[in-house]
Amino acid sequence: MAPTIPTVTLNNGVQIPQLGFGVFQVSDEQTTAAVSAALEAGYRSIDTAAIYGNETGVGTAIASSGVARDELFITTKLWNADQGYDATLKAFDASLAKLGLDYADLYLIHWPTPARDLYRESWKAIEKLATDGRIRAAGVSNFQPAHLKRLLDDTDLVPVVNQIELHPGLQQNELRAVHADLGIATEAWSPLAQGAVLGDEAITTIAATYGKSTAQVVLRWHLQLGNIVIPKSVTPARIRENLDVFDFALTDDEMTAIAALDRGLRTGPHPDELN
Ligand code: NDP
Repeated sequence: MAPTIPTVTLNNGVQIPQLGFGVFQVSDEQTTAAVSAALEAGYRSIDTAAIYGNETGVGTAIASSGVARDELFITTKLWNADQGYDATLKAFDASLAKLGLDYADLYLIHWPTPARDLYRESWKAIEKLATDGRIRAAGVSNFQPAHLKRLLDDTDLVPVVNQIELHPGLQQNELRAVHADLGIATEAWSPLAQGAVLGDEAITTIAATYGKSTAQVVLRWHLQLGNIVIPKSVTPARIRENLDVFDFALTDDEMTAIAALDRGLRTGPHPDELN
């Protein structure tokens, strides 16, 4: 039986499943099979993006799943080249058409691209999408504290989430504290560091204690910190495994042992530098 996935209540009252499914670097064709397997396993939150080129594949899986639309939580993201007020509205229409949906649950500015300085205009467009009921929630991704501050100086709409690279090798404690102050939920991308932390000794030791996999231990660590997580896998057994994390709990000492693995490990670009 599929587990009950806890939800996080966002700052606008909308609830997001704390554990969802990501599809970065999955081809459009492969995405349909992966998302179908995820929905079958019990995931209800799917994280895609225009730049992933697989919104159509996500939409195909949703349409054939038989899962009611209001049980799903679908996130997509505005690509950098489409920032700006009019371009954002147009890009959103294109994303929704590919997904085959009439609204998205969450729409994110994918990267701040600070040198281009268009994220405030893009956010105005996203505010309109929210007002018009075309998205249930608006958020950002890869925003540093300075970008959040600049955005908030100009708007009353506080992003519901900031989706950032976060895993035991890059724990983002400073940014998490900023989010907590502002009422922004932390969503972790590459929650498994694309596999790079799964051999860490502290994690393998804890995994052996519980008879769980290292990926399950890392996901459990995220959940206990309160992070929203969206692990990706195209492997059906791993898709199921990553959902099977609700029958054990890490002790304070185990959480501390994983806290010690923080080492500035980035698997993706630095948000200040990607333009
Ligand atoms: P993850 O940290 O989720 O790691 C995915 C990798 O780990 C894949 O190689 C997968 O292999 C492997 N894996 C998954 N489960 C297990 C397991 N149980 N045991 C061992 N290996 C496992 O990386 P992602 O970069 O994909 O991040 C997750 C999601 O975050 C993305 O799919 C995307 O939705 C989002 N994201 C957002 C970004 C942003 O800028 N906003 C940037 C990057 C990601 P396999 O698939 O072969 O099974």
